[in-house]
Amino acid sequence: MIDLRSDTVTRPTPAMRNAMANADVGDCMIDIDPSVERLEQRTAEVLGKPAALFMPSGSMANQIAVRVHCERGSEFLCEADCHIYQYEQAAFAQLSGLVAATIQGQAGILQPEQLHDQIRPVNDHFVTTKLVCLENTHNRGGGTIQPVEIVRSITQWADENGLKRHLDGARLWNAVAATGIAANHWAAMFDSVSVCFSKGLGAPVGSVLAGDQEFIQAAKRARKLFGGGMRQAGIVAAGALFALENHRDRLLEDHQNAQLLARAVDSSEALSLGSHGVQTNIVMATVDPRWGTATELVNRLADAGVKCFAMGRQRIRLVTHLDVSTAQVQQAADILFDIARLPQPYQVVSGSGASQT
Ligand SMILES: *Cc1c(COP(=O)(O)O)cnc(C)c1O
Repeated sequence: MIDLRSDTVTRPTPAMRNAMANADVGDCMIDIDPSVERLEQRTAEVLGKPAALFMPSGSMANQIAVRVHCERGSEFLCEADCHIYQYEQAAFAQLSGLVAATIQGQAGILQPEQLHDQIRPVNDHFVTTKLVCLENTHNRGGGTIQPVEIVRSITQWADENGLKRHLDGARLWNAVAATGIAANHWAAMFDSVSVCFSKGLGAPVGSVLAGDQEFIQAAKRARKLFGGGMRQAGIVAAGALFALENHRDRLLEDHQNAQLLARAVDSSEALSLGSHGVQTNIVMATVDPRWGTATELVNRLADAGVKCFAMGRQRIRLVTHLDVSTAQVQQAADILFDIARLPQPYQVVSGSGASQT
């Protein structure tokens, strides 16, 4: 089975397991766990932030970021298809008393002007606008990279208008690999950044939230509140650190492999790519209704040995990652191309039957 459902399906490599087995650990809720501390320091350094905090998941990192930046009864601005709004059970409302003001982008990308009227006036009728969140690369947008000049424009505008800025950088490593723009350059435009180790980088568990000292101190209190106070977490942090040091450069391979799928989709009869194409390791394809639905296609592909996800009625998503080789992705691309044929139109036979031609 070639599993292209998500880059979260990766399993730790033997070298990573070795690093984990040999990790120094301690109780990081009583004093310190040296492996967690090493991961936090190194991630802070890579992101150019003063401090960082290890988290069990990206959802927790994002939800703690919005909670700490906003006060109860306030709102944050975000793109309508972003992970924080779509895939985290609106925890910001359930747990922190916040609302999201969503703005529809194109493949996850907002234009700066779309935000300019979105800050509420200071008036007792209105909720208070406190924060803007961006996502890079954008998951539901199809792994799209935020254009750096748009990010600069939005974050500068936010800063000038007294808003905090949070980056959901679960796949920031992919944006760095694809653009060559360093992680600390992206991070410098934000007050806080969350990054993930269990997606493209291939670690089994973990995200990190980075920001200034005061922010991270408040985030640490919230992490305990949310049930994320871990003990000998160094055993998993060591896997994350191994991933950070060894697996960032190879993300370009995933991007090249995604191009093999992009070509198959583009040349197939029943599938098409969005106008933003394939920029990183995520391939979103629209299924021609004449073929059938996305779910029907996902089932046919699974029977042929390729796993992927349906993302709505006529859309499928395929994701390349550490655990699939170029040969496997090429095989998946061939299967995809083959299955995505449209039925031939019915032959209209006229006259008495037996054709003379
Ligand atoms: C996967 C993901 C997260 C967090 O995921 P967890 O499963 O909670 O670790 C956050 N943001 C984006 C954009 C993601 O793709």
